[in-house]
Amino acid sequence: MQHTIEPDSHGPLTAPMIRAVDACVHCGFCLAACPTYQELGQEMDSPRGRIVLMKQVLEGKLPWQAAQPHIDRCLGCLACEPACPSGVPYRDLISPFRAIARTQFKRSFGQKLRHVLASQTIPYPARFRLAALGGRLGKAVRPLLPKALQPMVDLVPATLPPAESWPIVTPAVGERRARVALLAGCAQQVLAPDINTATLAVLAAQGVEVIVPPTQGCCGGLAWHTGDLRAAQAFARKNLDAFPADVDAVLTNAAGCGSAMHEYHLVLRGTPDEARADAFRQRVTDVSFFLNRIGLRASPRDSGRTLRIAYHDACHLGNAQGVRDEPRALLRAIPGVEILELAEAHLCCGSAGTYNLDQPEIATSLGEQKARAAIATGADVVATGNIGCLTQLQAHLEKLGSPIRVRHTMQILRDAYL
Ligand code: SF4
Ligand code: SF4
Repeated sequence: MQHTIEPDSHGPLTAPMIRAVDACVHCGFCLAACPTYQELGQEMDSPRGRIVLMKQVLEGKLPWQAAQPHIDRCLGCLACEPACPSGVPYRDLISPFRAIARTQFKRSFGQKLRHVLASQTIPYPARFRLAALGGRLGKAVRPLLPKALQPMVDLVPATLPPAESWPIVTPAVGERRARVALLAGCAQQVLAPDINTATLAVLAAQGVEVIVPPTQGCCGGLAWHTGDLRAAQAFARKNLDAFPADVDAVLTNAAGCGSAMHEYHLVLRGTPDEARADAFRQRVTDVSFFLNRIGLRASPRDSGRTLRIAYHDACHLGNAQGVRDEPRALLRAIPGVEILELAEAHLCCGSAGTYNLDQPEIATSLGEQKARAAIATGADVVATGNIGCLTQLQAHLEKLGSPIRVRHTMQILRDAYL
């Protein structure tokens, strides 16, 4: 696309944004893949429309405020990337644009309050646990709360599992085949700590020694995707320092975290840490991809039962990391498992980080559609690789009165193997 964006006019993030704008030929193949275009039917809420808006803002031809509602409605699901025949790297445009937009104009009080509360609680497990407990009280007085806070208390789960902790080193069972480091995640530690426990058990049983670095922090994804560049950089640096170099891979078991860590080179672009961020991100791998690559060394036991599993591709695993076949292959290795596919599988479930808080109507509509699609498969269980999707889908299945449980791929593997 022809543009008149000045090189470096918006700092070190300008160049990747220009490359993305340049690559778009305006063909519109991405429109059908975009959940917000499907929901709202407006060009400005499609990938192509958003690229034009961002280009015009970066050229100085459109005020930031005019584009912002449409940019805010973008889920960051990246369904537009695999749909694009020209290979537009939309991710190189949307997050950098949000980082710059944050410095350009003021948000409403309600938006600011939500962002402060989310950014000061979700990345810190102890605070998030306290906030979730407080939120349960908030549910009782929901009508009395400011409107801006009501979506937050709606998302608070009715019960929280007890806190769990993990050793710094979990040794491999039997002969050691690999040594990895694991990101423990932040919201996941509070909402579903068993996912980490299951991941450690599966890896150890497969001969993988796992380090959980004690000084690690949040991946920074929440900050990066909401335009808080400074906070994202601080989280990224903390993890660059925390993770050891002498491991075969840095593993994540939450797609959103893995996808954010893959973007550390952008987060730290133009800083002295850019080169080591680039080297680090290339060692980051989703646990399902890693396990499938090294191969399962023993067959899971045969329970004699059939298990129908509907697999939900988390956007940040399928679209952002290209990991689709590997979790299915791992699950198929379990005797009696049948993998079922959801209709409209490319559509985001609506969770998308804090999207649930900022755009509750679209998030609810997408969540309900995904839950209906899961029910229509006739599955016993839904498997996925991201805590956000897991929480969103479980909530909407329950709302629809479905008994289907949503589980992480590692939890299903642990139950089959151990
Ligand atoms: S990231 Fe998702 S919501 Fe945003 S433009 Fe692309 S497909 Fe649409
Ligand atoms: S499919 Fe790709 S090239 Fe075509 S309009 Fe969408 S982003 Fe641009």
